[in-house]
Order: sequence, then structure tokens, then C-alpha cells
Amino acid sequence: MREENCIFCRIANGDIPSRTVYEDEQFRVILDMGPATKGHALVLPKDHYADLFAMPEEKAAEAMKTAKKAAAILKEKLGADGLNVVQNNGAAAGQTVQHFHIHLIPRYQGDNAHILWNPTEPTAEELDAVLAQIKG
Ligand code: 5GP
Ligand code: ZN
Repeated sequence: MREENCIFCRIANGDIPSRTVYEDEQFRVILDMGPATKGHALVLPKDHYADLFAMPEEKAAEAMKTAKKAAAILKEKLGADGLNVVQNNGAAAGQTVQHFHIHLIPRYQGDNAHILWNPTEPTAEELDAVLAQIKG
């Protein structure tokens, strides 16, 4: 299922040319046009899902399998020292394109990419309250 005005539907299905790193029946992996680092790539399902929540479990599992394959290619070919897997859902989480995608961000010792968060220091009680809310 594709969505008419979705740019990633059009890219994933080859209607718009892209720099394709890897492709199989269900996914296309392309270079991000605004890379955080050299080789920053996006795993795009060819079917349209707005985000992780809209996706069937099986498709999410397949997406991670494809991410693993493409990550190995990127790491090896580009000689990366590490790699971040990032997946944003919702505007609050930084999602700007409403078609599920997984970021593969190769990392190089000393690169200045800013991907990590600032850790906070909750008390034990605060952590317990969060857990109670999740479990409740
Ligand atoms: P998000 O913020 O939604 O998790 O990530 C969207 C990503 O898609 C951004 O990193 C952005 O650079 C990339 N992007 C947006 N439009 C295009 C496009 O048309 N082509 C490519 N290759 N990347 C895109
Ligand atoms: Zn789409």
C-alpha cells in the first residue's frame, strides 16, 4: 500500500531516483540527503506506514533484518568505527517525514555528530513511579 503524496513511498518504489545502498523486495536503503556523517542511510519499507506504531510486528522485524544487513555493508565499506541505529516516531521525537524509516548512522572516532541525549538523574522513587505507571 502506497500513499499518493508521500515522498518516501515514491523514493522506496523507484518513482524518484535515489542513491540506493541496498534493495530487496520489501525495502530500499538510501543515502540520507542531509547526512549526520558519511554514509548516513535510511531503511525505507516499500509499503507505507506512518511510523512504528502503524506497522505490523512482522514488518518491523523484517525492517530490522534489513537494517542489520545494510549496517554491516556500511561499516565494512566505509571503515566506520561504530554505527547508530535511530528511529524517530512523532514530531516530539524528531520525526519529520511521516513514512517509517530507520536511520543508519556510521560513526567515526572523533566525528562531531550529535545523536545522544543528556542523561538525567532521577531518584529511585521517581524511577519506581515510572515503572509503576508502565506496569499499571
Ligand atoms: P526524520 O527526522 O523524519 O527521522 O528523518 C528524515 C530524514 O530524511 C532526514 O535525515 C532528512 O535528511 C531525510 N530526507 C528527507 N527528505 C529526503 C529526500 O527527499 N531524500 C533523501 N535521500 N533524504 C531525505
Ligand atoms: Zn509513504
